[in-house]
Amino acid sequence: MPLTGIEIFKLLPKTNCGECGVPTCLAFAMNLAAGKAELTACPYVSEETKAKLEEAAAPPIRPVTIGVGDLALKVGGETVMFRHEKRFENRPGLAILITDTMAESEADARLERFSQLQYERVGLTLRPELVAIKDASANAGKFEALVNKVKQHNQRGIILMSSNPDILAAGLKVCADRKPLIYAATKDNLDRVAGLAKEHSCPVAVKASGLDELSQLTVRLTEAGVNDIVLDSGSRTVRQAFEDQIIIRNAALAKKFRPLGFPTITFPCEMTDDPMKEAVIASMFVAKYGSIIVLSDFQGHSLFPLLLERLNIYTDPQRPLATTEGIYEIGGPDENSPVLITSNFSLTYFIVSGEVETSRVPSWLLVKDTEGLSVMTSWAAGKFVADTIAPFVKKCGIEDKVKHHQLIIPGYIAAESGGLEEELPAWKVLIGPREGAHIPAYLKAWKP
Ligand code: SF4
Repeated sequence: MPLTGIEIFKLLPKTNCGECGVPTCLAFAMNLAAGKAELTACPYVSEETKAKLEEAAAPPIRPVTIGVGDLALKVGGETVMFRHEKRFENRPGLAILITDTMAESEADARLERFSQLQYERVGLTLRPELVAIKDASANAGKFEALVNKVKQHNQRGIILMSSNPDILAAGLKVCADRKPLIYAATKDNLDRVAGLAKEHSCPVAVKASGLDELSQLTVRLTEAGVNDIVLDSGSRTVRQAFEDQIIIRNAALAKKFRPLGFPTITFPCEMTDDPMKEAVIASMFVAKYGSIIVLSDFQGHSLFPLLLERLNIYTDPQRPLATTEGIYEIGGPDENSPVLITSNFSLTYFIVSGEVETSRVPSWLLVKDTEGLSVMTSWAAGKFVADTIAPFVKKCGIEDKVKHHQLIIPGYIAAESGGLEEELPAWKVLIGPREGAHIPAYLKAWKP
């Protein structure tokens, strides 16, 4: 349970020596409580206090990692009920389901879609993360062969699904080095599945019938030494599953109830046979509060909206996606090419650069740091006005790259043109289009 600044202060040495970088222990305690300082900055904290504070600083929903390397998926670690309170930390993983009774051609097609369906958006690659391999044959050999096929096919995360520990062990024999999620420990097999999780250092999902049983099982797992746990309340009706997600998040955050302080796994694939309805249910869990969402299949028209929804919800509202300030060359510009300027809100940058590319007019695009705000918002906030744009134009080096000294500004900040011409006497300021879609026609008509 997180401590307040005052509670932390009571545990500190209170010598106000200042070695931690702030003048008083109270200031340090406040920074610790706000997550702006590390306990290691104070060299005088006793081991006992350290243990207390580290326990108190643990996130109310434990972060759990599935997989290894750059493609590992981290879920959990959430600290708020609502995104506007701070931010959501770790995006939910999207999983495709493959069973070992499926025709080989169908399993291959799903794996192919899993690999192929990925999208570039605002400089990021959006794609699903997990393959859920389900034992439907009760045959360890068949399950093992399918796990092997999936492992060879891609490097992304794996969920091993069976209620039989022997079959889970067969899957782990093949892919334990990839740290898959073991699904699932239940009241009937908990000791053996916990043994597998410990033996292979893998996270484990626990499935129960209802939240009371779920919390009892997580207590048993943690007592057995398994801490990386993912929760499945067992509900398969949309309403009950949704309610469970809210109760679990609320119990962990507001009530500090540790037995439910873990990420969750949800199964829209088991809630409907209608693929579009399944996507809608999945979108509900993206918003509240599925950490892993298992879908029966992926199709571009349903996966892409889910990936976009996830991107939007899991973007930190206090830190918009931003592009690095600088000069961007589009299409091999030279000294006679047009010079445009825009803000560094990523969406703005990618729209403007895309339209410039579409025009096929080689151009220089100046991207001014506006703290990730769009053109209009940064202009209104005084971050994209003559007084800030002019120094950037002077120092960025564009004056050495072109002969003509004409600067095209977005139409939405036309009011800055006069101020800019005063600040940049060597430049002629041109008012460009308001909308990105009009950039190609504008550039084609532009003359140096
Ligand atoms: Fe207090 Fe430790 Fe900071 Fe010194 S280093 S002021 S004892 S918190």
